[in-house]
Amino acid sequence: MARFLASEAFSAASDELMLLPFNLERTGANQYLVANLVGDFIRLTEGELNKLVDLEIKPGDGLYERAYAAHLITGRSQSAQQQLLATRLRSRMAFLRQATPLHIFVVTLRCEHSCPYCQVSRQSTDRSRFDMSEEIALRALGIAFESPSARIKIEFQGGEPLLNFPLIRFIVSNAKRLSETSEKVVDFVIASNLALLNDGVLDFCKSNNILLSASLDGPSDLHNKNRPRPGGNSFELAVAGIKQAQEVLGLDRVGALMTTTEASLNRVDEIIDEYLKLGLDGIFLRPLSPFGFAIKTRQYQRYTPNSWLAFYERGLRRVLEINRKGRPFREFYASLMLTRMLSDRPLGYVDLRSPAGVGIGALVYNYDGSVFASDEGRMLAETGDNAFRLGHVNENDYNSLILSDKLIEAISGSLTQTAPECSTCVFESHCGADPVYHHATQGDVLGIKPLSGFCARQKGIMSLLLDILDNSPEDAAILRRWASS
Ligand code: SF4
Repeated sequence: MARFLASEAFSAASDELMLLPFNLERTGANQYLVANLVGDFIRLTEGELNKLVDLEIKPGDGLYERAYAAHLITGRSQSAQQQLLATRLRSRMAFLRQATPLHIFVVTLRCEHSCPYCQVSRQSTDRSRFDMSEEIALRALGIAFESPSARIKIEFQGGEPLLNFPLIRFIVSNAKRLSETSEKVVDFVIASNLALLNDGVLDFCKSNNILLSASLDGPSDLHNKNRPRPGGNSFELAVAGIKQAQEVLGLDRVGALMTTTEASLNRVDEIIDEYLKLGLDGIFLRPLSPFGFAIKTRQYQRYTPNSWLAFYERGLRRVLEINRKGRPFREFYASLMLTRMLSDRPLGYVDLRSPAGVGIGALVYNYDGSVFASDEGRMLAETGDNAFRLGHVNENDYNSLILSDKLIEAISGSLTQTAPECSTCVFESHCGADPVYHHATQGDVLGIKPLSGFCARQKGIMSLLLDILDNSPEDAAILRRWASS
């Protein structure tokens, strides 16, 4: 009697094959990009795609093995492939288990800058009626500590939050008290232009482990043009503040954010150089957002998604060149996208998820006690649009805010998994629903994606990253490192 069955007994029968869900996009005359349910990509020719769809494949023909490895097919009687996909999908969506980890406190609307692209309607510095009160702050803290997330981050914003520094002290001390009784871990960030940074603020940040997030738009002339203030010295103060904070708090406790204006478009190399000079570990190349004051001044319409993408590509390639020369330095948006594209780690970044991160990713407590589903939603309200105002700290608790019809409609109405265009898009697994952006630009949380600047940028960035991953081995190794750390 034979000791082993014949080899045919171990091969799957091709007549029992079935297709698993996938999306595709034509990328060339005879080339298709195909993505499985969790966004693994594979490139197929038209002939291969036709054979796959007709299931005219069999073990040993090469295409069968590639399709199996890419989770595009399975045997009808097998469940392992589906179970594996379900496990990976569950892991990718695990951010939903940590509801509302981010709580943004707008401690004042006052600001001593008057940036034309500012996304909030700043108030002059002497109008203290635009400061959050201690009573509002305590009620907002109560809501923040009701959220289910075991770890919460409290971010102070403005205006310029350091103009109401006494309230920041008050909130930090009360949050620490609540953290002890609730056993929730709490982290703090102050988003500031650093013009008002002093030793007292730095000592407080050091003793309370507070991160600083600064604004830096590039070289002196560009930054000062973008960010006017009395004295015209915003850049000098920001750079001095970053250096001082690095010295006192440590290199990894201060970051910087830039915004791309029309004047930035031809200057990405110089912008990156400023970040390198300051010893920062990366840059977040960000487009202007169509919210708040930026709409009134029409700043966000000054360049197209395509001109921003050209700026972005030049910047990313420059960052890769810096890495090739031996200096680790990353572009943070690419890092986020690559984490989505190359791993199944859940990513809580509020703009890159579906269900959207509004409310369930972050809540924003405005200076007057109004609660918003996102910072951009708060900015919209500054121009009279209250679509994302969920309630008020005096009238609502966490549950009533999160279960409000307004929030549920915004989230369920913008799911990319079911949206026209998105549900069949090859990039859907890695994209995000951005209901506030689409409401602001198209008056509809879902949006018409072929007309959406967000969609154009997402497709452009993901296509660029895939091109580098496929065609430039040295740069691909750098990108893979960004995704794994
Ligand atoms: S927004 Fe655009 S890129 Fe993103 S999933 Fe929808 S169609 Fe695709």
